Amino acid sequence: MSDKPEKFIDENGLRLDGRKLDQIRDVKIEVGVLARADGSCYLEFGNNKVMAAVYGPREVHPRHQQESTRAIVRYKYNMASFSVEDRKRPGPDRRSTEVSKVSREALEDQVFTEYFPKSAIDVFVEVLQADAGTRTAALNAASVALADAGIPMRGLVSACAFGKVDDTLVVDLSKDEDNYGQADVPIAMTQDGKITLLQMDGHLTPEELKTGLLMAQEGCRQVYEIQRQALMDHYAKMQDTNKDETEAPSVEEVVTAEENKDSEDVTTEAEEVEEEVAGETDEEKPEIKENAPEEEKEEEETDEKIVEETVEEPDTEEDDSHE
Ligand code: UDP
Repeated sequence: MSDKPEKFIDENGLRLDGRKLDQIRDVKIEVGVLARADGSCYLEFGNNKVMAAVYGPREVHPRHQQESTRAIVRYKYNMASFSVEDRKRPGPDRRSTEVSKVSREALEDQVFTEYFPKSAIDVFVEVLQADAGTRTAALNAASVALADAGIPMRGLVSACAFGKVDDTLVVDLSKDEDNYGQADVPIAMTQDGKITLLQMDGHLTPEELKTGLLMAQEGCRQVYEIQRQALMDHYAKMQDTNKDETEAPSVEEVVTAEENKDSEDVTTEAEEVEEEVAGETDEEKPEIKENAPEEEKEEEETDEKIVEETVEEPDTEEDDSHE
């Protein structure tokens, strides 16, 4: 584990990783990456790498969890043992149980659960690489995966943290800022700015909380734009694929085309035979143009006679010698 840095913000007002105070880390999103999930999303938030998979609406097991008027949303956050510097003990623990609970609550209200009574919508998030802010990264991925699964929702949920280092508010804390900073406040919001998750670790004045919330709101808005764009790109790509499939010939068309091809082949074969026969006859026939003038025809006939006579000459000579 790295030591506490002396300063988090330099004289130019930049943070340890060169970011401005209100700058979030780079976000990359890929939609529909898992073939067996109903919806999925791979997301990178700085050095955080998470994978979200959504299954459902589907039957509830165990049955006693089933709700007669709505779907239940289940959320499982898991941190892979290799995702952190000091290997994490595999399996659930208090932290992952807490993160799963608050994340489920952050998403549940956005889902039209009343459309699917007695069913379950399961969200699984695996943290593959952790670098502070995994719960917010996981929520962003889960929200996109839900949309990819076609679950009717009021809108996307976007998440981003803010905190305090060197008595200064910063957005989207890095690992050192998270570990050694004065406060860490993960936030999740709906598109219209309704807060669905707010946790706080550390100390802030009411003023700082207000300002920080505005900073996080701007961060969430930026994340939302990236989520939205990723979904749009994915569906544009899917539409193109579907279009290609629609343009492909139907089975009937293929069969008809094959039949036509066969009959064309038969005609061609017949034609070839005819051509061959015709060709042989033509070779045997002397070339006499039908409309050729009489003189030309006579010349050709004479030529033929000369050839015949020339061929017969040796016989005559042989006969002569015998005599
Ligand atoms: N962390 C770790 N081991 C753990 C839990 C967390 O190394 O068992 C690291 C990890 O990088 C994580 C960071 O500590 O991102 C901050 O954890 P926190 O509980 O604040 O949750 P997060 O910020 O990831 O949502």
